[in-house]
Amino acid sequence: MKPKCQSCASCGMPLEKNEDFALGDPSSSYCRYCTDKSGNLLPYEKILKANADYFKESQGLTDPAALKMATDLLLNQPAWKNREA
Ligand SMILES: [Zn+2]
Repeated sequence: MKPKCQSCASCGMPLEKNEDFALGDPSSSYCRYCTDKSGNLLPYEKILKANADYFKESQGLTDPAALKMATDLLLNQPAWKNREA
């Protein structure tokens, strides 16, 4: 069974077009923002910071608020759910 709407297993971004996927490869579980040039998943801290920056800019949040939002978001993603604290 295919998932109806695929999203990045790291940041939850909807993966709609081929170019949204890592390396433009629709079989990847991650988006291009969460991976490096080789298609490998970036470290948690980098993705956390990228998402916090995004929330800060797009929603005008303060640093701590944006960081908390990003932390909560990543907490529920398959890629980070079982992350060692
Ligand atoms: Zn992602």
